[in-house]
Amino acid sequence: MIPFNSPTTTKNIEKCEKLLSELLETKVLLTPSCTSALEMTALLLDIQPGDEVIMPSFTFPSTANAFMLRGAMPVFCDIRPDTLNIDEVLISKLITKKTKAIVPVHYAGIACEMDTILNYDLPIVEDNAHGLFGTYQNKQLGTMGTFGTLSFHHTKNFSCGEGGALLINDPEYLPRAEVLREKGTNRQLFLRGEISKYTWIDLGSSYTMADTLAWILLSQINTQNIQMTRRELFWTYWDYLDTWAKVRGVQLPTLIKDSKPAYHIFWMVLPTIEDRIELQLYLQKRGVQSTTHFEPLHLSRMNKQSSHCPVTEDISQRLLRLPLHHSLSSVNQKKIIEAILEYS
Ligand SMILES: *Cc1c(COP(=O)(O)O)cnc(C)c1O
Repeated sequence: MIPFNSPTTTKNIEKCEKLLSELLETKVLLTPSCTSALEMTALLLDIQPGDEVIMPSFTFPSTANAFMLRGAMPVFCDIRPDTLNIDEVLISKLITKKTKAIVPVHYAGIACEMDTILNYDLPIVEDNAHGLFGTYQNKQLGTMGTFGTLSFHHTKNFSCGEGGALLINDPEYLPRAEVLREKGTNRQLFLRGEISKYTWIDLGSSYTMADTLAWILLSQINTQNIQMTRRELFWTYWDYLDTWAKVRGVQLPTLIKDSKPAYHIFWMVLPTIEDRIELQLYLQKRGVQSTTHFEPLHLSRMNKQSSHCPVTEDISQRLLRLPLHHSLSSVNQKKIIEAILEYS
């Protein structure tokens, strides 16, 4: 038979989805980004205009956009001052009849207090853009809620330039997720040979990852030293800076009980905004780039609701992130640490 199309392959997608599904013990669908995976969750949960979705304000706009694109309203919850994650107790005060989901973000790859969050009896979407391979009570982050989402953007731990994944932890959603991802068609069934022609059966979009990107991602995930290098760098910062930080009232990353971080960010919270600005300028002069992070979403121009998130407002101004990536050499890390220890 002369083929109709030039030969194409989805074998890297299949291999990579299989590998991640095995490692995370859940169903993984690769997507073009974490943003698109979040958008898929809003469609799968049938989010409608007027619905409310509870999430931290201290996150990336995609967390909110995904639900606002369906007409829902983000309800911003404050964060805990220790983990910088959504305050699991405050959530209860924000739940109304209109609440359709809760979206915890495992900030910096550090686990949210999932036990409490899962008890709310609402669909949970774990925005786990930072936390691949971090754990909570020996469970992988992203696999505890109804859905989890991952990011393989070039700023994240594992990357293929642009990419993401949707973790389907409740198998009931899988058939519809496969249709949504294929522009609303049952092409997946066709590819598996289960039907002879595929058609348009539901709402959908182009939420598939390119096979060439999956090939890159596969090698990234298989390179376990990406995570090992980050872990090493993370604890080296910790070991050298712990005493320095305690003396100056600087807060370093705080873990909750029974959790293991994904080593995405090494952050410091300085005592005042002035301290943060001063240290950042000093590090710059010493040739070290350090950065702040999320601007609170509730203070942005897009937000129309009033929100009460004093911890978010305070912490976001005092937070500084140090370089942490697998190409950071230990020699350069020592220079960073030296610069900080010499700062008075
Ligand atoms: C990076 C990030 C996203 C978006 O990821 P993309 O893969 O770039 O779409 C979403 N949420 C959080 C918390 C992020 O940090």
